[in-house]
Amino acid sequence: MNQNNHVQYDDNNIFAKMLKGEIPYHKVFEDDKTLAFMDIMPQAKGHVLVIPKQKAIELADLEPEYAAAVLMTAKKVMQAQRQVFEREGIIQMQLNGSQAGQTVFHYHVHLIPSSIHELGRHAVTQADQGELADLAQQLAAVIAG
Ligand code: AMP
Repeated sequence: MNQNNHVQYDDNNIFAKMLKGEIPYHKVFEDDKTLAFMDIMPQAKGHVLVIPKQKAIELADLEPEYAAAVLMTAKKVMQAQRQVFEREGIIQMQLNGSQAGQTVFHYHVHLIPSSIHELGRHAVTQADQGELADLAQQLAAVIAG
């Protein structure tokens, strides 16, 4: 049992498969403890997810060193989004448990260049792969300096 007491970590969840290199994604940033990539069904243009390289389902499972690392990566991504999309407002969101609407059971922080009043629907519309690749490249280039 994990600390949230009702779900077991699934080694074959979609983000675990990304970390194992088994499925493709549009990478924005990676370090030894985290990975950031484009959300495939964005709630706004430039929607990025940051995940820890730890088998954590949700916040209750996250080890302090990974929590810190995820937030440091989230800061980098947010600063890059501000520059690329020329906007200050970036939503940071994170869902814990299916009752909250969580659909992928590997902890992840959403960073969405949007306003809470304009946010698109959650995980509904698939984006164009070419556009995602282009946005990932732009964000990665800003982070790399
Ligand atoms: P949540 O509902 O908070 O668990 O969010 C899961 C997020 O993962 C949603 O925003 C989905 O659009 C996104 N997602 C699902 N599959 C993929 C994928 N293969 N690549 C990138 N993002 C994904």
